Amino acid sequence: MSVVTRFAPSPTGYLHVGGARTALYSWLYAKSQGGEFVLRIEDTDIERSTEDAKQAILDGMEWLGLSWDKGPYYQTERFDRYKSIIQTMLDEGKAYKCFMPAEELDAIREKQKENGEKPRYPGTWRDRTDHPEGQPFVIRFKNPLEGSVVFDDHVRGRIEISNKELDDLIIQRSDGTPTYNFCVVVDDWDMGITHVVRGEDHINNTPRQINILQALGAPVPEYAHVSMILGDDGKKLSKRHGAVSVMQYRDDGYLPQAVKNYLVRLGWSHGDQEIFSEQEMIELFSLDAIGQSASAFNTEKLIWLNQHYIKTLPAEEVASHASWHFEQQGISLENGPALTDVIAIQADRVKTLKELADISCYFYQDFEEFDANAAKKHLRPVAKEALELVQQKLAAISEWNPENIQAAINATAEELEIGMGKVGMPLRVAATGSGNSPSLDVTLNLLSQDKIVERINKALTFIANRENS
Ligand code: GLU
Repeated sequence: MSVVTRFAPSPTGYLHVGGARTALYSWLYAKSQGGEFVLRIEDTDIERSTEDAKQAILDGMEWLGLSWDKGPYYQTERFDRYKSIIQTMLDEGKAYKCFMPAEELDAIREKQKENGEKPRYPGTWRDRTDHPEGQPFVIRFKNPLEGSVVFDDHVRGRIEISNKELDDLIIQRSDGTPTYNFCVVVDDWDMGITHVVRGEDHINNTPRQINILQALGAPVPEYAHVSMILGDDGKKLSKRHGAVSVMQYRDDGYLPQAVKNYLVRLGWSHGDQEIFSEQEMIELFSLDAIGQSASAFNTEKLIWLNQHYIKTLPAEEVASHASWHFEQQGISLENGPALTDVIAIQADRVKTLKELADISCYFYQDFEEFDANAAKKHLRPVAKEALELVQQKLAAISEWNPENIQAAINATAEELEIGMGKVGMPLRVAATGSGNSPSLDVTLNLLSQDKIVERINKALTFIANRENS
């Protein structure tokens, strides 16, 4: 049997981390089994489903690299199919029209509650044929009266629910639209889903869905209900805890590789391994190793992984994501060094790609002002001589490379009989605008010789103005 999994989000908001983790597990399982991964947009709640949210889900999936083999399917485009199955079920006596007015059902439920019973529809119209003309009705599924539903959940183990606990589910509302649980069943069947990975908030739907699948003669998939994600304070993860939307992580400067690695470990483990390449995830992932307990989100760990990937992925790959952040900050990468070269020297200085763009602007555009503290400390009249001399020596270099740049700095310090820092720090502030940068030989090497000379002039003017004020 070839494996088919699916991710079936309702497009009522952004793709949140819980959804992304479910999608990732489902995707990984399909990949690990050489199977197929289906994307299905469950947009039957027309009031709450928006185009923006649909797009946000597709964007989030693409950003994470969770490509789908089939779909995206939209439930709103499948209404005819749902309707025809409902008709067949009516014809075969597997479903029936229920004409009970809402008030009557409410009153029954009130009574049941007063008697300490679980409120449920009592099956009043299950076998009645005296259908009133022109009255509104819903269509209910004839749930089995006896026996129980049993399934072996890959995460939660064996689950058994007595059919006495389940009443006859509405599969079509009085306005003629099919209900959520019914659409899921038809889709899982039509799309040949063999493994359903979803949030544990759906676990109560599963026995009902299994009963309908069985009534339709459809194969019953295997299930894995994944636990919730909590914030670091043990409460359900929400905006209070920081970003919950996957795309917010992109905006904040995380690499999709880091987010994926973070999410795979959030509730799944393989020994005490923390770092997983995509290939390893695919090879090692199994549904049975998903943990039962709720997982707490830990931003520190995500940052740690992000740093790891910024440092260790090929610079081209980091650059392909980092360039977006420069764009966001209005920095054109046209006039300046290759971004991969900047990444090679900045990678171990940053936690996020946003930070990378922040601290690398000076490679691509002139800064308006020197960092105030750095200038105060290093662009002082005593630095004038060193800056002038190093400027001369840098300008005279015939082959602009790190060795020659370093030699010019060393020669300046020697000639003036001052420490290297007395040349290096003013030069650093002059060239980069701040007191922080990778070592000067490699930093200056990525800037053009002309630019350095020009920036030193600017620093000398700054010192002169300071002297005069
Ligand atoms: N559409 C449901 C949700 O977004 C998922 C349903 C399912 O996976 O069966 O929560």
